[in-house]
Amino acid sequence: MNALQFIKILTTFESPLPSSPRELLIRVSSAGICNTDIEITRGYVPGFSGIPGHEFFGYVESVPYPVHNRLIGKRVTAEINCACGNCSFCNQGLSRHCRNRTVIGIVNRDGAFAEYISVPVENVVLIPDTISDNNSLFIEPLAAALEIQEQVKILPEHEVLILGDGKLAHLVALTLKPTGCRMKVSGRHEWKAQLLRDRGIDALVNRQDIPDRVFDIVIEASGSPAAFQEGLAKVKPRGTLVLKSTYVQSFSFNPASVVVNEITLIGSRCGRFAAAIAFLEKERPDLSYLISKRFPLVEGIAAFAAAQQPDVMKVVIDCR
Ligand SMILES: [Zn+2]
Ligand SMILES: [Zn+2]
Repeated sequence: MNALQFIKILTTFESPLPSSPRELLIRVSSAGICNTDIEITRGYVPGFSGIPGHEFFGYVESVPYPVHNRLIGKRVTAEINCACGNCSFCNQGLSRHCRNRTVIGIVNRDGAFAEYISVPVENVVLIPDTISDNNSLFIEPLAAALEIQEQVKILPEHEVLILGDGKLAHLVALTLKPTGCRMKVSGRHEWKAQLLRDRGIDALVNRQDIPDRVFDIVIEASGSPAAFQEGLAKVKPRGTLVLKSTYVQSFSFNPASVVVNEITLIGSRCGRFAAAIAFLEKERPDLSYLISKRFPLVEGIAAFAAAQQPDVMKVVIDCR
């Protein structure tokens, strides 16, 4: 987070107003720092100098029209892609790919590391009472993890390899577990692997153990270009390599193995919040284990510094 962004955060204490008449105002309770937020502070989204933060929950403070009064005081979060409703993608029901979209805390729209956030009414998602506050913080990244299952049919007989042991890799593994697939997670940290094993997931630290060309599906969730190459080596002919990482740096690779082995490459980004809420209600995981540290909003810069340390998973900013 740069100083300008932080000043903007502090000034939002004084201006709790929705940014357009079609939007409602949420008083933010807590928001999680994700790798995208950290990349934003390094310039991942050129031109974005607003408030980051897109994994959050809070309580509805004010609504644009009396018809929305029933939402006041409700615990909510918001879908992050704010669509125009008019373009060719919106007309095909692909509003997450809207040509004119803003994205909460990422593209042309202030995010949730603030006391208040203004969001379009249609983006608001009610959080059922059965879902804890801590689990609510993971609705957005869980939706992204579950998007894989919207794109690829994963069956119990499938051999699946997840590359990475960070927060996203954990959420991908937890969401794949109910499919009954034969899954391995390959990371670099023993303590993160142990957290997965404690949840009944086969987690490895030494990647040299893993044979080449045996996996039906490989999911690259580590953010490392080297893991992309590794994924290409591990997936079997006619298999699928799912790319879950948004690489900051470009890199080169020889596509011959994609062609020769007829590999399907799938890019996978955001998912539907409804799927994440259904998962949390059905599986009732306790995702608190992923939260390493919490900071108050006024210590936002310290929170960002902590989130970049190697020994933490999720860092949460408490905004009220
Ligand atoms: Zn995120
Ligand atoms: Zn659109």
